[in-house]
Amino acid sequence: MELQRSIDIPDIEQFTKFVTEGSQFVITCHMTPDGDALGSSLGLCHILRRMGKSAVVVTPDTPASTLDFLPGFQDIVIASRYPERVRRMLADADTIVCLDFNSLKRIDRLAPMIERCEAAKILIDHHLNPDDFADLTISRPEQSSTCALLFHILWQAGIYDLMDEESATCIYTGMLTDTGNFSYNSNDPDLYSIISLLLAKGLDKDEVYTLAWNTHRAESLRINGYALYRKMQIFPDHQLAVIILDRKELNEFSYVKGDTEGLVNRPLAVPGVTWSVYLRQDEADFVKVSMRSKGRFPVNLVCERLFGGGGHLNAAGGEFTGTAAAALEKIMGALDDFDKHLDPA
Ligand code: 5GP
Ligand code: MN
Repeated sequence: MELQRSIDIPDIEQFTKFVTEGSQFVITCHMTPDGDALGSSLGLCHILRRMGKSAVVVTPDTPASTLDFLPGFQDIVIASRYPERVRRMLADADTIVCLDFNSLKRIDRLAPMIERCEAAKILIDHHLNPDDFADLTISRPEQSSTCALLFHILWQAGIYDLMDEESATCIYTGMLTDTGNFSYNSNDPDLYSIISLLLAKGLDKDEVYTLAWNTHRAESLRINGYALYRKMQIFPDHQLAVIILDRKELNEFSYVKGDTEGLVNRPLAVPGVTWSVYLRQDEADFVKVSMRSKGRFPVNLVCERLFGGGGHLNAAGGEFTGTAAAALEKIMGALDDFDKHLDPA
């Protein structure tokens, strides 16, 4: 089956114009970048370089080392570590490409720098309701990953020919991680047309599965086992599961960023659990909130309402200043209100 040409022609024309005319590109993505954010950024970076452009990926903060298999990972410039270097690169750039975020809030301290920057800005993203800050915004919330959306754009723009194995590996990684290894949001036949086209570029799909999805530190396996065994609470009346890990527990398992990636999805395996919450006490007064759901239950709404966060219908997050116990209390206090989104048990 041929890949559908689903991106509007004026968007492709404008994208092609920016890419053809630009020569110095800075590519950026959201903080705590995941496989989709880094995969799309590095995937595009490789292609731009093959077009003879100067291109660099800048992340707001340090990416998890679990993604260090991505080709080009070592060349990423981290804004929180090298703010001056990033400022200079932004001053020299003529084109900035923003990938996998919808709001400048998601790039933290990079936001004012990018906002002020004179360069042309392109936003390519699959989150709802993008901020209006770019000269060209290609927002497709129906796409399961920014990587799949980026592929559509490159394909329609006729740039696919320039794709190499490195770029294909990066793009495939985001498609895989944002669909849980093609286990949700993954019924779009186009995804499999894209995979065929990536395989034709030398993608080793099996190897990416191993590296992106099934490689863990022993401590990571242990903390996930502990969390499920000892810490998963189920509230059947609300079809809710909650896991809390406090600072002491994280230290006990010498937690590093990425160790509990995917943990929040696990309780959804239980029939009768419709939504799952993971509260990670990163610091004494800071909690990272992660939520997942099945069906129509809107965790983005819950995260927005309670934690000033957001995300997608079935995968969202936010932040809380205080203890995990206080964050849980906040959720518990609002449960009756969220019950209306549940299907009858
Ligand atoms: P995760 O649970 O993997 O950290 O995040 C899942 C999704 O929720 C992300 O893809 C992102 O869309 C959204 N998200 C996570 N954390 C935040 C946050 O602090 N603010 C907002 N607005 N969205 C978030
Ligand atoms: Mn994404």
